[in-house]
Parts: sequence; C-alpha cells; structure tokens
Amino acid sequence: MECIFCKIVAGEIPAKKVKEDEHMLAFHDIDPKAPTHILLIPKRHLASLAEAGSGDHALLGHLLVKAAEVAREQGLDRGYRVVISTGPDGGQTVDHLHVHVMGGRPMHWPPG
Ligand code: AMP
Ligand code: ZN
Repeated sequence: MECIFCKIVAGEIPAKKVKEDEHMLAFHDIDPKAPTHILLIPKRHLASLAEAGSGDHALLGHLLVKAAEVAREQGLDRGYRVVISTGPDGGQTVDHLHVHVMGGRPMHWPPG
C-alpha cells in the first residue's frame, strides 16, 4: 500500500486527528497554508473527485457536512475556504481524495 493517506487511516503514519467516524477522518495538514488548515478524507481509498461515481453520493455529502462541522468546531465563524484539488491541473499532490478546510485569514480569489 503506497498511499500515504491510507497509511494515516491504518495508523501506520501519525496525524493530528480532529475528527473521525466510520467513513471519514479529519486531521491537520502537515504544511498549513492558513492559520487553520484541516484535511478530511474518506477512509475508503478514492483516488480523486474525478473517480467519484453514482455510488459515492452519500460519502461526498458526508464529507462536506463533516467539513462544516469541523469548521464550526475550529471557530471559523468568519468563514473559510473548502478546496478539492483534482488531477494534475487541479494541483492534486496526494492521490487520495481530500477536502481542504482553510480559515483564520481572508482568502483571495482567484486562487493560484
Ligand atoms: P493537494 O496538494 O491539494 O493534493 O493537498 C495535499 C495536502 O496534503 C497538502 O496540503 C500537504 O501539505 C498535505 N499532506 C501531505 N502529506 C501529509 C501528511 N503526512 N499529513 C498531513 N498532511 C499531509
Ligand atoms: Zn488512499
């Protein structure tokens, strides 16, 4: 198993976890780009959003609801940015779907 996020799910490499349930895990990004920068991942390996199919409605909805829950718990009451980098042009560097939740400073548009 080469996927680093699957290794985090398996407990083989450490992460600063903030939330976990049967389907997802949320942990602090190792290289934060904002004062609060958390990643939410499905426990099941899904390489990217581009791989999502008709069987993934519940999982993707669950990840977004949990992203909002994490943001509330982190006190991001002024708002936050949710990003799903997808594929090479999307800037995806880890091939296991992840939802970035970034906040604690104003975000800019367009992103780089
Ligand atoms: P992306 O570049 O959008 O695919 O996001 C991948 C994110 O994973 C980056 O923000 C990395 O800093 C983060 N990352 C990579 N390895 C780890 C790790 N072992 N623990 C936590 N975050 C990681
Ligand atoms: Zn994986």
